[in-house]
Order: sequence, then C-alpha cells, then structure tokens
Amino acid sequence: MTAIQYDVIVIGGGIAGVTCVESLLLLNPNISVALISCTPCVKCTTNIVALGHLMEKFDVIEQDESEFIQRFPTVKFIHGEAVRFYSEKHEVEYRRVPSSPDESVDVSTMVYKKLCVCTGGEPNVVAPNLDSVISIRDTDSVQILQEKLRKAKHVAVLGNGGIANEFICEVEDCDVTWIIKDNFINSAFLDPGASEFLINQIKTVKPKGEQKYLKRWQYESNSKSSVDATKLEEKTGPALGPDWHKNLDLKGLGSKENVNIQYSTTIQSIEETSDSSSNKKELKIVLTNGHEFGCDFLVSATGVNPATGFFEGQKVKLGEDSGIEVNESFETSIADVYAAGDCCTPGWEIAPHWVHMRLWTQAKQMGTCVARSITACLQNEPKLPLDICFEVFTHVTTFFGYKVIMLGNFNAKGLDKNKCEILFRCTKNMEYIKVILHEDKLCGAILIGETDYEETFENLILNQFDLGFIKDGLLDPDVDIEDYFDYLFSC
Ligand SMILES: Cc1cc2nc3c(=O)[nH]c(=O)nc-3n(C[C@H](O)[C@H](O)[C@H](O)COP(=O)(O)OP(=O)(O)OC[C@H]3O[C@@H](n4cnc5c(N)ncnc54)[C@H](O)[C@@H]3O)c2cc1C
Repeated sequence: MTAIQYDVIVIGGGIAGVTCVESLLLLNPNISVALISCTPCVKCTTNIVALGHLMEKFDVIEQDESEFIQRFPTVKFIHGEAVRFYSEKHEVEYRRVPSSPDESVDVSTMVYKKLCVCTGGEPNVVAPNLDSVISIRDTDSVQILQEKLRKAKHVAVLGNGGIANEFICEVEDCDVTWIIKDNFINSAFLDPGASEFLINQIKTVKPKGEQKYLKRWQYESNSKSSVDATKLEEKTGPALGPDWHKNLDLKGLGSKENVNIQYSTTIQSIEETSDSSSNKKELKIVLTNGHEFGCDFLVSATGVNPATGFFEGQKVKLGEDSGIEVNESFETSIADVYAAGDCCTPGWEIAPHWVHMRLWTQAKQMGTCVARSITACLQNEPKLPLDICFEVFTHVTTFFGYKVIMLGNFNAKGLDKNKCEILFRCTKNMEYIKVILHEDKLCGAILIGETDYEETFENLILNQFDLGFIKDGLLDPDVDIEDYFDYLFSC
C-alpha cells in the first residue's frame, strides 16, 4: 500500500505543535497537514491578551481528540508515537495507539514534504529509578503526585524554577523541605531583591476572609536569606500561570505545612527504604550541607532536557544544551525537517535583549514562526527574516499571586557592569520594579505587581531610546512616563 503524502507532518501536540498546525491553516487553508500526538489531548492557547507589541498573556488549555478534529476538520489527527523517519524517502514511521484493547498496534508510514518536530522536553529527574522520586510534566505525573501527596506528611522538593515555586505555593497540609542550589528563591527568573519582595509579601497577613491557608516557613540557620521565621500566608485568588495545579487537591495527610528552605545546597545521596510490615516506602536524603532528613517522597523539579529521541540514528546538529539546533527559519541540519518549542535550541546569533528559555511563550512564538517559514518554502517564496518577537524577551507570569513581567535582558547577563545602572522602586505590599540601563538605554526590567510600565518599557527596549536626560524621573510615581513618551514620539 502506498503511504499517504502530506504537505506537512507535525509531531507533538504541545503548544509548539498545535500553534504550528493552527498557523499553517491560517496561512494556507488548502494545505494538507497531519499531526501525530502521543497523547489523546493536545495543548492550546486561549484568552490571548496583547500587553504590548510583542508581549502577550494567555491561558493554556487541553483539548481532546474530538475537540481538536472539530476545530481542524481538514487535519489528520493520529494518536500515536512517531518512531523514526527516513530523510531520503521523506517518510515518517509511527505506531498508532489502538482505540480498543482488541485492536493490535500497527506501525505505518506517511510521506511528508516538510516535517516539523515539536516533541518538547523530558524532565531532568534525580534518581529516576526510585518509586518515591517523581517529576511534574504531564497530566499522568500530576495524578501520581496527588495520590502520593494524599498519604504524605513530609515531602522534599528539589529545584528553584517556576514549577517548584508553584508546588510550594499550592501544597497544603504537608511539611516541605525545599532544596535549592541558590541563596534565594526562584533564581531562574528573579534576582535576590525580587525574591525577597515576594517572600515578604507572602508573610503579610491578610484580613480574614481573604485567607486561603496559612503556611509557616522556617529558615535554616545556614540560610543566607535575611528573612525571619514567621507565619506566612499565601495571597488568595486563583493562580494564573501553569494549569497543572488549577482545580487540583494538593493536600497532604498532615494538619499543617512548614516549609523548610535549605539554601545553597543539593542532594548528596538519596536512599529508598521500605517498611516490610506496611509496605510503605520512605526516602532518606543527605544534602551537601550535611543536613539529613527522611520524607515520604521527593518532587524533582530541576528543569527539562530537550526530547530528541525521535532523531536517534540521524546525523542532526545539536545545540549547546543538546536540543535540535535550528536556524532563523527553524530548519534543522536535515533537509525539509524543522523543529520548534522545547525540543529545539536556537542556532542563530541571539539578540542582546532576548534570552532563550523553555516557556509557553517561546513555544507559541516558535510554532507560529516555523509555520510561516514552512509556508514560504512550500510557496517558493524567499526565506523570511527572524521575527521581531526574538528581539526582546517577554514573559508574563504569576508568582505567589503577583503579576510578574520580565522584559529584555532582565538578569543583566553578560553586560559590562561599569556601563550599567540599575533603577529601582519598591512599594511594600504593592510593587517591585527593577530597570537595567546600559549606557543610558533600557535593556531589561523586572516588574512585579500592577505597575503599568510594561508597554512603555517594551517599546524603550525595542527602540533603544537614549534615556540619559530623563532617567532620574523614569520611575518617579508622579511622572506619567507613558504619556510623556507618547507625546515625545508623536512630535
Ligand atoms: C508543570 C509545568 C509547569 C509549567 N509552567 C509554565 C509556566 O507557568 N509558564 C511557561 O511559560 N511555561 C511553563 N512550563 C513550560 C512549558 O510548559 C513548556 O515550555 C511548553 O509547554 C513547551 O511546549 P512544546 O510544545 O515545545 O512541548 P510539550 O508541551 O512538551 O509538548 C510536546 C508533546 O510532544 C509529544 N511527543 C514527544 N515525542 C513524541 C513522538 N515521538 N511522537 C508523538 N508525540 C510525541 C509529547 O507527548 C508532548 O505531548 C511549565 C512546564 C511544566 C512541566
């Protein structure tokens, strides 16, 4: 039987893959597209709100196969695993997941003109062979987390990025030992000042009725943080950001939750023991700072590695972090094979105000751009230049109930400190604003709270306007900086 040919075969039903399909159809409704997804549900973005030229916030939802087919009736949806591809023949081999237990697993092939690989990332898990070590990545892993948590009184969390922070924020009725390699929380996104601001905000006691639950945080004597051990409380309200914890019951078996942060350390050894009478497993963890403790299980949240297994046996160029290297057109080193999202690594010269991070925003941007690039090639048009969204890094999220926006080179990485100036404004319980100027030009900012600076600052990073004459008043709360620049640029 001859294999069916598609103009484009997309692999992976995450944000990058689904955005790619969506954009391909927008650009050319007559294109033939197949999507191969390991999972019956795919991820989509919705409620997209533009906050600036490039910056947007959106929600991420899951759609099942039938909803996807209804939305994209012309797309061939295959619930299965793409196993390998043959670049000369332009063939993809895939294993379809049987729709009933009586059906056998069949391996089939399809032919592509263009192949777009969006296989995402795989959690980087410490001691992956132990039952009591889990990671949070997909719906299944969240269910395992919930089940384990229901029987737990003490859990350990390893990692200092968004996922670890969200988990710490959401977990109830369970003691937590939080192991972080840095001397302040959320180092993936924040600086020590912003991190301190957030911890202080959580400490603030809200009027009754606004309280969701109380947390008592403990700080080790070896902590480099200046925060005192105090009763802390999380701000009420539904957390935006990751949808994995929304509507989830993340309650442990205890009656309270103490969060013990172990700073500037990591796991030295980890051992799983099991009680023969109860069959209950427990972990014994020793940290590099000498601290030893037992816990029910460990959440390993130390980031993801690009999922590149589909390229096994292929001579494909990899980036520095072992992702599939792509050029400005999202082409890999293999002809007619593209990649986007968490599985890829940009191989182009990175703009000074952009940072590559494996985030929803970038998966969406890459999904859109790879579709444009594929369409241009199929229509024999010249290659497109790299999209402007890769000029300025933008990330909108929520930490501990606060709106947090990161813009440009927000952590001043690689900048000559002698040419940098930091402007700063902090209003207790309200806002934290940090602006980085490099030779009087705005190159990055961290905005926490409802600051209303995001659009203006995004523009100032984009246009590299010389702020030398106004920098003293840039963060003055009595100066309407947005109006000022609107007037200036309209003259
Ligand atoms: C718990 C959690 C919370 C997060 N929170 C945030 C956040 O608040 N903000 C943010 O910006 N980012 C967040 N991220 C990161 C964000 O989810 C990712 O950057 C983004 O989803 C990557 O999208 P993707 O499409 O590249 O990959 P993925 O979403 O990983 O999708 C890849 C898909 O491809 C499938 N696949 C893999 N191999 C094959 C194959 N051979 N055949 C068929 N299908 C295959 C996988 O099963 C998967 O469904 C979070 C991540 C996690 C795990």
